[in-house]
Amino acid sequence: MATDNDSYLINNNYATLNVTRNDFEQWIVPTYSPADFIITHGQGSLVFDQNNNKYIDFAGGIAVNALGHAHPELVKTIIEQAQKVWHLANTYTNEPVLRLAKMLIDNTFADKAFFCNSGAEANEAALKLARKYALDIFGPESGKNEILAFNNSFHGRTLFTVSTGGQPKYSQDFVPLPPGIHHSAFNDLSAAEQLITEKTAAVIVEPIQGEGGVLPAQTEFLQGLRSLCDKYNAVLIFDEVQTGVGRTGKLYAYMHHGVLPDVLTTAKSLGGGFPIGAMLTTDKFARHFTVGTHGTTYGGNPLAASVSLKVLSLINQPEVLNNVDLKHQIFREKLEKINDQFDAFNSIRGKGMLIGAELKGKYQNHAKEIIASAHKEGVMLLMAGPNVLRFAPSLIIPDDLIIDGLDRLQNAFVKLKEFG
Ligand SMILES: *Cc1c(COP(=O)(O)O)cnc(C)c1O
Repeated sequence: MATDNDSYLINNNYATLNVTRNDFEQWIVPTYSPADFIITHGQGSLVFDQNNNKYIDFAGGIAVNALGHAHPELVKTIIEQAQKVWHLANTYTNEPVLRLAKMLIDNTFADKAFFCNSGAEANEAALKLARKYALDIFGPESGKNEILAFNNSFHGRTLFTVSTGGQPKYSQDFVPLPPGIHHSAFNDLSAAEQLITEKTAAVIVEPIQGEGGVLPAQTEFLQGLRSLCDKYNAVLIFDEVQTGVGRTGKLYAYMHHGVLPDVLTTAKSLGGGFPIGAMLTTDKFARHFTVGTHGTTYGGNPLAASVSLKVLSLINQPEVLNNVDLKHQIFREKLEKINDQFDAFNSIRGKGMLIGAELKGKYQNHAKEIIASAHKEGVMLLMAGPNVLRFAPSLIIPDDLIIDGLDRLQNAFVKLKEFG
């Protein structure tokens, strides 16, 4: 609500309004509690705040800014496309989205792509497609509409996806939830075997549980889920929203395991920071989403598609993907040194540029305080629950910045010495 006649109000000029972190509590619905500084610009894996303090960015916009900030080729692409056409109704297709679809199909198991704007929307589409497929093939009497998901998983924030996610804290306040969703223990094949039935329409799993604490799925577990889905005619959905687009050192994480899904969802790094999501699938399933059965206003718009096409073409190169593994080793060795000094981590896990360090001892459940201390030393990182430090930087972060950033984290631990 307007409360005064300040000049910006009279002139309708908000573009130069002075704002501070304190304004957040005043004006923003408090679903987040952001850090106490405001980033104004960045370049690569360096970002700067309002006071021109420098930070090394290990957060990567939560596994989104896969090529860092203001990558010159992405800036050029976005400007060039912005000068042509940004958005069309989906009753008109466009060149960038067709090229992007072809690139994703040529480089994955998929035959068809559906585009949307976020990970939650990609999963929503995947879950709806699975139910539609089961309904079309097995009929309403079959009751084949159940979803099997895993404890601790995260699939997004729409009602269907929070219900499917295995973290009740995200769904319990929004009852009644969509029925027919079951949760099983992650990496426990016999538990999944107990819960899967002829009524199961889909099994959805993250190849590495990201939000849940950077927990990799075992190859045997994914192989077993594949066999169970084949046996029970259930759609196997890999949620690669966080693990996709080179994050783990392969274009998609399923490529490490030699297990093919029926449906794969991808978002986060797919746009390198520009919102876009996609659901990839084979013709067998795609043909059950017919005209009018599902849709989106913005999905597959030419601006997002052209940026994503450039992101993929820059990432899907052997040098870039192989370097992701090498950078992982640099992280791991240095984190192990920090652990030798402070005895802080129970385990260091993950793949490529998705790394979790689970805290222990006096640091247990204090990820938030450690991150606040790290900010003071000039490095940004994430948590994955209260007990895991998460690193999801740019896939092309320079090696010396990895070392510099982890030196800063080490300093943060020094300052926390009397902690706990
Ligand atoms: C982030 C995430 C989502 C949700 O993506 P949004 O773009 O926030 O909707 C879904 N699944 C996984 C595995 C994620 O990491």
